[in-house]
Amino acid sequence: MTAPVEATPEKQEFSFQAEIKQLLHILSHSLYQNKEISIRELVSNASDALDKLRHIQLFEEKYRDDAPLEVTLEVDKEKRILTIRDNGIGLTHDELVKNLGTIAHSGSLEFLSKLSGDAKKDLTLIGQFGVGFYSAFMLADKVEVLSHSYAEDASWRWESDGTGRYSIEPAESLPRGTQVRLHLKADLDEFLEAYRLKSIIRRYSSFIPHPIRLEGEVLNDQRPIWVEPKHELTEEKYNGFFQHLTHRPDAKPLWYLHLSSDSPLQFSAILYCPEENFELLGFGKNEHGLHLCAKRILVQDNCRELLPEYMRFLYGLVDSADLPLAVSRETLQDNTIFRKLKKVLTKKVLDHLDTLATDTPEVYEKFYRQFGPNLREGIATDFESRERLGKLLRFRSSNDTENPEKLISLADYVARVSEKQKQIYFVCGPDLETLKKNPNLEVFRRKKLEVLYLIDPIDEMALSHLRTFSEKQIVSIDSAEVEFPEGTDSAETPEPAEAEKPAGFDRVLELFREALGDRVSDVKASKRLTDSPCCLVNPAGALSTQLQKVLKMNHQEFEMSKRALEVNPTHPLILRLTSLAAEDGQAAFVKECGQQLFANAMILEGLPPEPEDLVTRMERFMSELAQAK
Ligand code: ADP
Repeated sequence: MTAPVEATPEKQEFSFQAEIKQLLHILSHSLYQNKEISIRELVSNASDALDKLRHIQLFEEKYRDDAPLEVTLEVDKEKRILTIRDNGIGLTHDELVKNLGTIAHSGSLEFLSKLSGDAKKDLTLIGQFGVGFYSAFMLADKVEVLSHSYAEDASWRWESDGTGRYSIEPAESLPRGTQVRLHLKADLDEFLEAYRLKSIIRRYSSFIPHPIRLEGEVLNDQRPIWVEPKHELTEEKYNGFFQHLTHRPDAKPLWYLHLSSDSPLQFSAILYCPEENFELLGFGKNEHGLHLCAKRILVQDNCRELLPEYMRFLYGLVDSADLPLAVSRETLQDNTIFRKLKKVLTKKVLDHLDTLATDTPEVYEKFYRQFGPNLREGIATDFESRERLGKLLRFRSSNDTENPEKLISLADYVARVSEKQKQIYFVCGPDLETLKKNPNLEVFRRKKLEVLYLIDPIDEMALSHLRTFSEKQIVSIDSAEVEFPEGTDSAETPEPAEAEKPAGFDRVLELFREALGDRVSDVKASKRLTDSPCCLVNPAGALSTQLQKVLKMNHQEFEMSKRALEVNPTHPLILRLTSLAAEDGQAAFVKECGQQLFANAMILEGLPPEPEDLVTRMERFMSELAQAK
């Protein structure tokens, strides 16, 4: 793919990776608006190259010199060329092939496959998925990259017209760094005008930590906003820094957190939560991390280990004077200060979520609808914060019939149920409508007990990790562990007492047991049911059927737990079977009914019964009925 297709000692021709060809096509044809972001991307690459060089200089003396690290814009009006130049690390021959010929990040490929016709939305995503450099072809019909890497004694000239190929050839000796020369498209003279370039840089690149020069003038103020006092910062500044970090012009954070501390650990940080969770749109896992600085110098960009994995949706920057500058990526995690920082940051984020939930519940709810899955993931993975995360969970509830989308917390639930109730009940289903038909719910309705509605299997996963909340056990309504609080029977809704079980009912249970054999763990009288003839109940300690189903789907070898069939002694069909069971010669029919009732219960839970048996039995029932007509 990247091997030269035609090689001379002088000039080598390469063809772009197929995905890049598609991307170039899209960038140069369909997304006409907002060409300015291309300049932002190139300036941002130049700044990254300066950061990288500065980091190398910290470790190795031989690469140090007095030249200030900076980005320069140059305009050649006659030839209509705009150049973005930096004196950063530069690119070697191989890096030119690798970095400007293939897309390294899997995110970019996903980005490509998800591109919609909605140009605006697509544009805001461009920088995020690292297609930055190629945006040069939005402005130019020919791009030259002249580069000299700090690591190699050679200069190279890369060139492409953005169709399918690029070439690399040796260049005359260049100073260290990179120049991206844009041969502007015919109608884009505006990008040769100083006023236009200045306004673009001010708008998009004011947070770049290195000077950006045009005609000798420095265009950005480079002051790090995270060390400025909070009261001096405006909303606009905060938003601006967020846009800088996310590469998304016009984006606003859902909330942000500006922290500073002097002891026991010195650090400042700004953390941002975006408004949308791209993971929910099927983009795969977020891949960005925080910027980590020591005394304002970038030590590592995209540092994912600074927060627990489930907080990967946060953008931001952390700067600590206590952190050693010369620390490599590999050893960073073993650094004591780094570990302390991580702990403090995690705590601060959770504190902030608590505050949001209390002070601005509407903002918290917005947050939860986007990032709830991350919190649930946290419950499974962050043992230390499990309890705190439990308080942040939200659920739909059987009590909110007026507004079924309303979310409540476990604390809300506990506060409104009777003290006698020792358990928190939940039911899990694929959606609200199906879940409400679960026969196991009948008894809860009858006893007026509140049940949490879970429509995401991860919710149940989270609850099964949590186990208890406020000393109340959390149980699925289809578990044998369900216990009802005393005195929950009102006069109109009596519980079927033992004595009310019709004579001969035990015989029905016996026949059902014979018919079902080891497909069930037991067959017994139910205290749960009102309208349905029977239901299936999981043994104590088992996951709910819904969650087991999901596990089974993903892991063939997973064994679903054997469940008990509970039979409703007051249901008319069961009553009729009770009298039939006493008659001679009817046992076979009662048994067949037992099998069919079992199959029905399976179907209601979305589990496949044995289809052949089921169909044969139904046909026989129908023929008998038809005969009797
Ligand atoms: P991203 O910046 O998201 O990695 P780009 O397509 O913008 O994606 O750039 C690809 C790679 O090319 C960069 O990761 C970097 O390694 C290299 N690169 C781009 N511009 C420069 C530059 N001015 N100096 C050195 N390397 C650069």
